[in-house]
Amino acid sequence: MKDIATMDRETLATHLARLFRDRGAELYLVGGAVRDQLLGQDDFDLDFATSAEPDTTASILATLGAGRPYRVGEKFGTIGLALDGRPVEITTYRTEEYEAGSRKPQVQFGRSLRADLERRDFTINAMARDPLTGDLIDPLGGRDDLVAGLIRAVGTPEERFAEDPLRLLRAVRFASRLGFHVDPETWSAMQRSAPALGSISRERVRDEYTKMLTGAEPVRALELLRDSALMAQSVPGLMELTRMPDHGPFHPLSLWDHAMRVVAAVPPLLTLRWAALLHDVAKPATRTHEPSGRPRFFGHEERGAEVAREILTDLRYSKDIVEGVVLLVSTHMQMHGYTDEWTDGAVRRLTMRLGTLTSEALMLARADASGHALAGQSSGSRRYDALESRIRTVQQQSPRLESPLSGDDLMTRYGRPAGPWIRDVKDALRDAVIDGALAAGDRDRAFQMADEIMAAQESGATP
Ligand code: ATP
Ligand code: MG
Repeated sequence: MKDIATMDRETLATHLARLFRDRGAELYLVGGAVRDQLLGQDDFDLDFATSAEPDTTASILATLGAGRPYRVGEKFGTIGLALDGRPVEITTYRTEEYEAGSRKPQVQFGRSLRADLERRDFTINAMARDPLTGDLIDPLGGRDDLVAGLIRAVGTPEERFAEDPLRLLRAVRFASRLGFHVDPETWSAMQRSAPALGSISRERVRDEYTKMLTGAEPVRALELLRDSALMAQSVPGLMELTRMPDHGPFHPLSLWDHAMRVVAAVPPLLTLRWAALLHDVAKPATRTHEPSGRPRFFGHEERGAEVAREILTDLRYSKDIVEGVVLLVSTHMQMHGYTDEWTDGAVRRLTMRLGTLTSEALMLARADASGHALAGQSSGSRRYDALESRIRTVQQQSPRLESPLSGDDLMTRYGRPAGPWIRDVKDALRDAVIDGALAAGDRDRAFQMADEIMAAQESGATP
């Protein structure tokens, strides 16, 4: 037998289907795997549905000698196996019955593939393929919708969205990622069902936003969310972006269009995409007008950072993500002010504040600047090129931006016990290093400066 780990997906699917057939069970490739394969993607997931009970599936997978099968959520009857890093998931046919008033579906193991396909969300996700014959099993017209580029709910859209409102966001995600339209009946059901999003966990909403924002077509996803009322129902704070169609004489675009340009212009990193979306979110709330009529947005970066914190905390994002976005939003104006006059100290201070997000902040600044420019206008990218090379130079010069003297050094020299004075002196020495007034390793000069600081403190203490 050929090594399981090196088989291509088709061969592996066929191999598995034979093993199941030998045990009297059906095995079909299903869902996204079939959809993506029809779309010509050879890197499709290996998701299968089977008539076999989960224990039987596990015992068949164990015979492959390719690691231990694991259960993916006991109750749902999915058995997984990592084959050479690629997860294979096999789920026993299931049907769901929703009890009135209960949000949790009662999952039961069903007997037929047909019933299994009918419980899926959209027709394009509700096809199966028999690996042994190559036959497509498509009772719901998924293939026609795939060809027409349509997202269409399986069955009665309103009922399906009521069963699981997450499907509302999934519809948007698939429509944006595949460049599809939502079938009109499904679309109007989405608009009517939008309030149901309030009943699902914030974590599930978060995971869909994450996939949409880091996916290939985030702008299309955001526009569909806005137009379907799903945005207002799931992350109402984002609607602020729609409230400033007039962005002032210096910005030819509406706030929304500007934000979309910036989102599209940054790489698909989660923190960066959220920062791009939210960087100007507080502009409507902070807008004032000069006597000339020129709008100003004083403090919109700080206020925007607070809004970002509220939105992302509410979505249960990790502290890392929340703090990263908050930092990028609160500092997003700083790089625009860069000139060659900036001292090394000023450049260092900025990079110290940004830490590991320095390169993300540069990407955001560039995208922000180009997102304001009219077509054909220079986005002033030379400013950011110059800042980038300054940052590199400064980072190479002094990798250790800290006081050359330790607390012990200071206590020994001045014969004083530990206390807040040590931090004061060390902070002053570190600032001198940042500003370039003191070389990072120059202990002699550091002691001289410490003497001066101590002397100034003493004289200050005895007026
Ligand atoms: P992706 O490439 O994003 O993984 P996918 O179609 O494989 O796309 P999954 O979330 O992995 O999506 O789900 C696999 C399949 O399970 C879907 O194709 C669909 O048939 C079904 N499915 C997933 N979530 C739901 C849901 N909430 N309601 C109904 N069916 C669902
Ligand atoms: Mg999948």
